Amino acid sequence: MFKLKSVIRENIAKLTPYSSARDEFNGKGIFLDANENPFGELNRYPDPYQTTLKKKLSKLKGISAEKIFIGNGSDEVIDLAFRIFCTPGNDKALTFSPTYGMYDVSAAINDIELLKIPLTSYFQIDEKLLKPFLKDLSLKIIFICSPNNPSGNLLKRSTIENILANFNGIVIVDEAYIDFCKDDTCLNLLANYPNLIVCQTFSKAYGLAAARVGIGYASEEIVQLFNKVKPPYNVSELNQKAAIEALDNSEAYEENLNIILSERKKLATALEELKIVLKVYPSNANFLLVETINADVIYKDLVSQKIITRNRNNLVNNCIRISVGTPSENKKLLQALKNINL
Ligand SMILES: *Cc1c(COP(=O)(O)O)cnc(C)c1O
Repeated sequence: MFKLKSVIRENIAKLTPYSSARDEFNGKGIFLDANENPFGELNRYPDPYQTTLKKKLSKLKGISAEKIFIGNGSDEVIDLAFRIFCTPGNDKALTFSPTYGMYDVSAAINDIELLKIPLTSYFQIDEKLLKPFLKDLSLKIIFICSPNNPSGNLLKRSTIENILANFNGIVIVDEAYIDFCKDDTCLNLLANYPNLIVCQTFSKAYGLAAARVGIGYASEEIVQLFNKVKPPYNVSELNQKAAIEALDNSEAYEENLNIILSERKKLATALEELKIVLKVYPSNANFLLVETINADVIYKDLVSQKIITRNRNNLVNNCIRISVGTPSENKKLLQALKNINL
């Protein structure tokens, strides 16, 4: 059985968190407590718990605000998870490769060994390969990226549930791209699995990569741990406002989302017709993984035509990952690919 107490680092369990000046009083008043400048517009520290933003998310997702953590990008959620659950130099985490590179970097920064289990040729989890690792007591976190980056596909829900049920550590499902396939979210598993953390972000479908706002959904107990360890004012006032505005402007969000989805379909069809393209993998996200006849050469040629894609040859043989752009950007990409003679 999963016991939260047994996966928290001792020093974190014992930690007395920083108490900010505003913790005791947050109504209207004369604030002479935080050594702020009384003049200006951004002179006050922001709400450390992002109450307004959480209320809106809570309503939108049907999840209580106490189960929501806001990070400075989901990269902060990932880093905090390492710091809360993994003792440096001792514990391990696990990912399924190929996947998002930040798990690797964040694990290395925290001196945590990251185990990597290869996905199948259909980019699904091989449960037989995973099984022997589930009983390793030093394994504290399993990362599941779904839809997966760079392959673009959703991972099977039944597999995710099996892992949640059979692993006594933390399972982080990274849903950075879930807005492009909303019905497949694992958020509704939160009620059944106290070891689940679902990460989402404003960086992709909400178009706010510059603002750095990420979300972690988890049990109240886990969210309290994150609150305890995070820097007190981790999400700036400007970033909170940007996220709130994006949620209020749902029309623009839907409109852009629909354009991206219809462009993805057009782009996939057009790419498949090119001689230098061998395969376009099915995508549930806002990018396509494209197998080519020579990724290194094609990638460089595109750069010389001032079109930057992501060369994933090191992860998936001869593959390039292409984000879906605006209709005119996608047209230019296709023309540039047609210009390449191989
Ligand atoms: C883009 C991306 C993120 C987003 O990270 P932010 O820090 O929220 O910008 C998270 N996970 C994956 C797999 C991604 O591809």
